[in-house]
Amino acid sequence: MFRLALHWQILIGMVIGSLVGLLLNLTASESDVFLDSGLPAGIQSAEITDSSRLTEIQYVTEAETVKRVIDPLVKEPGSFRNVTELRAEDAIAADLYERFGQSTAKQVGAWFKRIGGLFLRMLQMVAVPLIVTSLLTGILGLGGADEVGRMFTRTIAYYLTTSMLAITTGLLVVNMIRPGLGNDDDAPRAVAENIGSSESLSDILFNQVQAIIPANPLAALTAPNFLSIIAFTIAFGIFAVRVGGTTAERIRNFAAAGFDVMMAMTMAIIRLAPIGVLFLIAYVTATQGIDVIKALGWYFLSVVLALAIHAAVTMPLILWFVARRSPTDFARAMSPALLTAFSSASSNATLPLTLSNIEQRAGVSNKTGSFVLPLGATINMDGTALYEAVAVLFIAQLHYGVNLPFTQQVIIAVTALLASVGAAGIPHAGLVMMVIILQVAGLPLEMQGVILAVDRLLDMARTAVNVWGDACGCAVVERFETQ
Ligand code: ASP
Repeated sequence: MFRLALHWQILIGMVIGSLVGLLLNLTASESDVFLDSGLPAGIQSAEITDSSRLTEIQYVTEAETVKRVIDPLVKEPGSFRNVTELRAEDAIAADLYERFGQSTAKQVGAWFKRIGGLFLRMLQMVAVPLIVTSLLTGILGLGGADEVGRMFTRTIAYYLTTSMLAITTGLLVVNMIRPGLGNDDDAPRAVAENIGSSESLSDILFNQVQAIIPANPLAALTAPNFLSIIAFTIAFGIFAVRVGGTTAERIRNFAAAGFDVMMAMTMAIIRLAPIGVLFLIAYVTATQGIDVIKALGWYFLSVVLALAIHAAVTMPLILWFVARRSPTDFARAMSPALLTAFSSASSNATLPLTLSNIEQRAGVSNKTGSFVLPLGATINMDGTALYEAVAVLFIAQLHYGVNLPFTQQVIIAVTALLASVGAAGIPHAGLVMMVIILQVAGLPLEMQGVILAVDRLLDMARTAVNVWGDACGCAVVERFETQ
């Protein structure tokens, strides 16, 4: 039977969802309610104006007239981001809003959000076991302790440096383009104090380091505290390799079997993406209107531009100056793997081809290739790291209506790095990891719905950059090995 490829299905889901949402937004996103009966005791009259973004609630008591505004992008002092915040300040206004104030678009949108939220829950569900089994398989697949020890430091140093460079590029681009802010001139005013933290940068960094060491690894698993999970799993893998023998063998088999199952499960969930996308994008467009779609276009461009800078400027410079290789020749040699990575959106699936290209076409030794590439496919993901950073900053811009302060961006950079380490080399893994960074940045998970719509295309691009980063890593490590 003819079946449309998944990315087309997702695109169709996005188009239908956007149309439904926009239609709702255009036709049913405004309601005016003037109330004078059925009001809570002590209130003489109330007036609620609910439009696509803002809601104004005004009520009159004997003593005073109270006006409250709910504004998801909080730009006025005295506005509230959501009903929960409003309720903390003024329970009466929150009750009025819930009973009388929601326009049809918002009510229907809330249902869309709940249904789409089921899909996001499933992604959350697979995150922890997927990270653990994928990392263990990557590390235990490396072979004996001797080999692991020798090249380890240089390889890891390369991975970390290039991933950080990628993230920095991503953050620079997204700070310049500001895809989530549109051309709203008065946007970057308020709320900085809401999201900026009063801690100093050194405190923040130290807290991150502290979070990496779990006082209780099992508690970290259930919390879930992703940074601790990633760090502990890597340590566990390395020591399993050190112990060696049948112990390492058993853990390797167990992890590989677990990874196979988790991968199948993730793929099955991803098959639901078109429906998830449909509902989530319909929710966002129904409640926020056409601006979101425009912002999404800018976001897409930002990610692509930043990936292009990393792949076509930063990496070639490293190849040229550090590995002493011609970037064009090297790219030509690796082109089959890069194209496969692009079309499969999976570093793991591309791995056999990457290995054979690096040895047979790029002339790197088997020793280097078989160490750097399998580990790289799991933990070195420049494209994914960059993408995570851009996506989260974009979501924050959309959500808060301002750019995040520098200290918050540093936290996002560090978390994006670890998220890219933890991401499995399979399609859409970056999306699963996004949950982590959103949690760390205190952003609502359903905002992921917006970027989900264009995830597949970006996944293809970032996977090609991931594989390119691994391949360049081989060239760099090989140069120092053969000295
Ligand atoms: N698909 C990517 C890879 O396999 C991971 C991701 O989703 O970012 O490299």
